[in-house]
Amino acid sequence: MTKIIRHQNPPIQSRYQDYKPFLRIDFTYQCAYCRIHEAQWGSQRNFAVEHFRPKSDPRFKNLTLAYSNLYYSCNRCNDFKGKTWPSGQQEADGYGFCDPCREDFYAIHVKQNSNGVLEPLTNVGRYTCDHIRLNRKILRECRETERRLLNDVRSTHRLLRRLEQKHGEQKTSEIRSVLEEYIRDSREKLKGLHVFFRPAVPVDE
Ligand SMILES: [Zn+2]
Repeated sequence: MTKIIRHQNPPIQSRYQDYKPFLRIDFTYQCAYCRIHEAQWGSQRNFAVEHFRPKSDPRFKNLTLAYSNLYYSCNRCNDFKGKTWPSGQQEADGYGFCDPCREDFYAIHVKQNSNGVLEPLTNVGRYTCDHIRLNRKILRECRETERRLLNDVRSTHRLLRRLEQKHGEQKTSEIRSVLEEYIRDSREKLKGLHVFFRPAVPVDE
């Protein structure tokens, strides 16, 4: 994953909600924070136009319609983040939300353990995980499943190579077709997860 890069240049709108079609494309149909895809979370109806700097905070009133302050977010992340913004002291101590349009959150601020739990590496990582609840059950399960499937595909490839080296291609052709089918199945399941993938097309409604 990398940081999110915007390419859309939408005409000025009078309602922030009207930027949603442009945000969908810029955020590749995924939540800016948890990275869940529309296909995984029941279509764009369950996604919101989120204000990175909260619109309810008087300091950020002038950003209510600023496209650069609008993020595509699943309804859960949007609800959890809500009006939260770090205090001056918290900011001075290095706490605050990671801005996924400026930094690759998953590469810099957290690491993922084998159970799919994100472990914060920085104060920003801790603040973001805690306030957006990025270790909620469904996300942990998706990450854990993705990791298991990836490991399965890799170890099956390794097994196939070892068998061919030991017994020759001809003798292993039967088991090869079984293992290749298993790899294909696992790849299909991985595509269905979408959490850390960036499909180029939206889900049909
Ligand atoms: Zn989300």
